[in-house]
Amino acid sequence: MNSPAIVWFRRDLRLSDLPSLSAAADRAESALAVFVLDDALVRPSGAPRTTFLAGCLEALDADLGGRLLVVSGDPVQVIPELVDVLSVDSVHVSEDFGPYGRARDEAVEAALPASVPLIRTGSPYAVSPGRVRTKAGGPYRVFTPFKRAWLDHGWHSPALTGPDTVDWLDPDSILPRGRIERVGRAAVAELLTEEASDAAALPVAGEKAALERWRAFRDGGTSELDRYADDRNRPDLDATSRLSPYLKFGCLHPRTILHDLRARTDDGATTLRSELAWRDFYADVLFHRPETARTGVDAKFDQMEYDSGPDADAAFDAWCRGRTGYPIVDAGMRQLLAEGWMHNRVRMIVASFLTKDLHLPWWRGARYFMTHLVDGDLASNQHGWQWTAGCGTDAAPYFRVFNPVSQGERFDPSGDYVRRWVPELRGIAGKAVHRPWKHAGGRTAEPALFDGTDGDRGYPPPIVDHAEERVVALARYRDL
Ligand code: FAD
Repeated sequence: MNSPAIVWFRRDLRLSDLPSLSAAADRAESALAVFVLDDALVRPSGAPRTTFLAGCLEALDADLGGRLLVVSGDPVQVIPELVDVLSVDSVHVSEDFGPYGRARDEAVEAALPASVPLIRTGSPYAVSPGRVRTKAGGPYRVFTPFKRAWLDHGWHSPALTGPDTVDWLDPDSILPRGRIERVGRAAVAELLTEEASDAAALPVAGEKAALERWRAFRDGGTSELDRYADDRNRPDLDATSRLSPYLKFGCLHPRTILHDLRARTDDGATTLRSELAWRDFYADVLFHRPETARTGVDAKFDQMEYDSGPDADAAFDAWCRGRTGYPIVDAGMRQLLAEGWMHNRVRMIVASFLTKDLHLPWWRGARYFMTHLVDGDLASNQHGWQWTAGCGTDAAPYFRVFNPVSQGERFDPSGDYVRRWVPELRGIAGKAVHRPWKHAGGRTAEPALFDGTDGDRGYPPPIVDHAEERVVALARYRDL
């Protein structure tokens, strides 16, 4: 028990319910807490996610009494070097099942001395990818049977860990000068937030904030969880947990939530369990078919006819900026820019609009989402996009073309969501806000509202006619 261990944090930026920390404590009395600022992960992330990550690292460092060693570089070099310098006995991680993470961990493992194992304990999921299998032993391709088997499989109780589970080594007193450079707190923030001048308003980062958010959602007065099953599709009501950024970075583990829900059979708890099953399902799909990060789950859709050229680029630009002339789409895209987050129902509506009304490829929208989402997660994002585009894991996607007007009227019946994010439309009361072209008797009737010629002033008329584009989309699907 004399040699220290390394606890290498990645997507598990917390100290409670952390099985890899428990495993480290079984082998060593002391441990060094390490996070590697790996360019390959940080670079594609976009300002909301890197800014949130900086906050999570700051919070973790504070919880560790200032003993989190952050090093910039390639983990394949950094981790073996630390092992060498400190005569470490073992390196502990939560298992990463993404395509990049798996390859990185194999390379780190190969670079470690044979006597020092990379020990993978736990993962960011309630049930790790690859565990839930059909009777024939293969992966599930469709959600509902996956969920049934996932519920039957079950999960471990939370690991009883915390800040005192091991003695944390102080990097400043044990690292020889000149060999490994510790990136200080201020420098971490600077490195990660350098492009964040237009950053979104993000939630408070870290484990404490995650637990507070979860408890408020679970226990609040007339608790949000009690209303969740009824209201979760209503973007005007703010009725979802908003836990996704915390789950993304592991400030909170889904098992902690599921454990708290264990005795509950009410609709709210049942629905939330189901949503967490979606998260595990998509991770499972990506694990078995890593190529689906880029290509369709249903590969024939890769031959789909998409629009390209200057008009398509202009349409994409209007979508990105929230200026399509369809209020619910524009509200969602503006929420994304303002908060780095968008309501799930609205994610589906804007994704359907991009793929089926603008006829642009799903991966173009998915890439934009990954740049701007604070919860951007390869498995949930790429497969959420594919589900909507029709090339994903859904059994009957062909006829599902979301009508942006009726979706708005149905899920934002008060119109409050649109008015919150589209100030140009605040003068239109109630759900009439979803059809602004009717407001003053016709599409071009009111210049103040529809002044598309004067830069970004005024609200634009619809850039396409939904009914016409729906016919085009269905015809292109049929041609496949
Ligand atoms: P809640 O409704 O409170 O749900 C609780 C948790 O369950 C979420 O935090 C999330 O971890 C999980 N969850 C809920 N719905 C889904 C779902 N459909 N798929 C997978 N997990 C789900 N989610 C991400 O975490 N990252 C993404 O990059 C992402 N991209 C998406 C892209 C598209 C086009 C679509 C349609 C969905 C995407 N989702 C993504 C899923 C979902 O929109 C978000 O998880 C959800 O909006 C987060 O808000 P919440 O925490 O309040 O959700």
